[in-house]
Amino acid sequence: MKLTLLLFLSISLVTISCQQEYYSLEDYPDVSKIDAHFHIYNGESSAVELAAKDNFRLLVINTFSAECDRVYSANEVLNKEKRLHLDNFEYTTTFCLDNWDDENWTNKTISWIDSCLEEGAVSVKVWKNIGMEFRDKNGKIVMIDHPKFDSIFSHLTELKIPLVAHLGEPRDCWLPIDEMVTSNNRGYFTSHPEYHMYLHPELPSYEEQMMARERMMRKNPELTFIGCHLASLEWSVDEIARFLDDFPNAAVDMSARMGNLFYQTLQDRERVRNFFISYQDRILYGTDMAERESTSPEDLYARMQRDWSRDWEYLVSDNPMTSRFIEGEFNGLKLPRQVIDKIYRHNTIKWYGGFD
Ligand SMILES: [Zn+2]
Repeated sequence: MKLTLLLFLSISLVTISCQQEYYSLEDYPDVSKIDAHFHIYNGESSAVELAAKDNFRLLVINTFSAECDRVYSANEVLNKEKRLHLDNFEYTTTFCLDNWDDENWTNKTISWIDSCLEEGAVSVKVWKNIGMEFRDKNGKIVMIDHPKFDSIFSHLTELKIPLVAHLGEPRDCWLPIDEMVTSNNRGYFTSHPEYHMYLHPELPSYEEQMMARERMMRKNPELTFIGCHLASLEWSVDEIARFLDDFPNAAVDMSARMGNLFYQTLQDRERVRNFFISYQDRILYGTDMAERESTSPEDLYARMQRDWSRDWEYLVSDNPMTSRFIEGEFNGLKLPRQVIDKIYRHNTIKWYGGFD
């Protein structure tokens, strides 16, 4: 009798500790989460309130992906959002490249960055137009290791402000459409032939993009660097691991590259799972969702629910899943609770600061 009771008690204890080790799908609304890669280009934003319904806070990234004026107007919108939602919201600033060839471009840019940081931005973003699109007055493509950026990046290093960077593109970008790994890449590069580098062999190669970034990071070894979109190394978790080993002050966000993770999970789930566990302090959850003037709150919330619940299922459970991004069925990673808490919250606070 005693033995049966003991056995019962120990089984119950094991069950309870197993339950505590992992989150379930039902835990989703109760866990405090941050989407560390979000965009708002809408003066009347409802994103923060909608995100709060799902217990998400937002880190919103300003990007120089249109004209310079949008950098300024987005900065105003984000600053307003910050003042409205002091605890739920952080944002990055960025700088534009207009007047690049002027002698005082660097000084003016540093003053702009300083004024944004003073107003509350937590980080500075650079985008893929550096390396892929923007040219100086001689028609030469400006790469990220250009000496003109040196004093900006050393200024950020001194201030301990992270540089968040989308540099280069997925490796698919340099392949023909029918050889690309994910359907979202096939769709994006079909509709953006200007960024489909397979069609532009005159522009720097994938390897040149990655090498320019590494040269810049070696020049600035103390700079905190957050690589968007798995640092454009999405095609191989081993490559991301190597990058993180080489650069101890670097982290990556997962935004817009879930298809590549699903693809590798389908091929070798343990390898992907081990990567997440080994680098649990250096991976930030983010989506790259964007709210624009034309986005209705209903559409935005529908997309939030769709992507956020899909990713939660993939990361916390081992459910069999399918995705429109790839063909075939794969199982979720079922990461331990402490890893989930880091990816979804602690790492963003640690790497960017804010949210207090
Ligand atoms: Zn983005």
